[in-house]
Amino acid sequence: MKVTFYGVRGSHPVPGPYTVRYGGNTTCVTVTKNIEGKTIRIILDSGSGIVNLGVDIMKNWKNEVQPLTMLFTHLHPDHTMEFPFFAPNYRPDTILNLYGMQALKMHVGKILERNMLPPNFPIEYKDLKSERIHHIIKDNSTFFVKYEDHDVFKIMAMQSFAPSHPQQGAIYYKIIDCDTKGSLACIWDIESKIGGDKAVINFSKDCDIMIHDTQYTNEEYQSQERIVQGFGHSTYDMAVENATQAGIKKMLLCTHFNTTHTDDFLDAIQKEMNKKKTGFNIQLAYEGLSIEV
Ligand SMILES: [Zn+2]
Ligand SMILES: [Zn+2]
Repeated sequence: MKVTFYGVRGSHPVPGPYTVRYGGNTTCVTVTKNIEGKTIRIILDSGSGIVNLGVDIMKNWKNEVQPLTMLFTHLHPDHTMEFPFFAPNYRPDTILNLYGMQALKMHVGKILERNMLPPNFPIEYKDLKSERIHHIIKDNSTFFVKYEDHDVFKIMAMQSFAPSHPQQGAIYYKIIDCDTKGSLACIWDIESKIGGDKAVINFSKDCDIMIHDTQYTNEEYQSQERIVQGFGHSTYDMAVENATQAGIKKMLLCTHFNTTHTDDFLDAIQKEMNKKKTGFNIQLAYEGLSIEV
């Protein structure tokens, strides 16, 4: 399977000359597997990156296997706001399986619907042409994405609660390629703990690749001027700690970047990360980065 990034920012989009190389869009990641020329696809979150993903899906439309699977980590705006601008929503032959957390006490469609209520948006959620099927994910649940009776992806979900992420927390996903057994842990919108987050470490144990929230430098996290502790995000060192203790085999991919971190700033962090002595590579994600898991 392949993981591709379409949005690597937290909080809000930051287009402009200082974010050209890493990208300014908010969170959207896709995991794909090609079988007999067909694309079986999972989409994680619908931040502003989903607009470009929608364009790419349209180009590949005849090969896209329906339904498309969309996994929401949680419903903060940097993970949901651009859902109405996802091009397949305007095709009547689109079927979306939408997965959201049980902690909201309502399905994810209710929140997306709320974002589009008048006068917030020119049309309503019910006016989208796609067929949307809503699923509620319980903590510790496992389910499969199939292609013609064949298990393609095994998905495991872990619900975190505040203070890992404020209010209703977030869902972290583990995606396993049922053929190759390649494994990917998706851990973002998390404020980790000193000494590592034991629940996340156990959940991600021995995965090939981990994607982890890295919104802050240590200096920012400990700053007295602008207090960010309690906002639900991690430092680079926290991500490295969790990946190390989980025994990640190949790569740690850093994401959910601070909106104030320019391309040059992130390059400098990448250089620092290259010096770390770990059993895996550390790579700062950027829009368009595609990695075989
Ligand atoms: Zn976020
Ligand atoms: Zn959030």
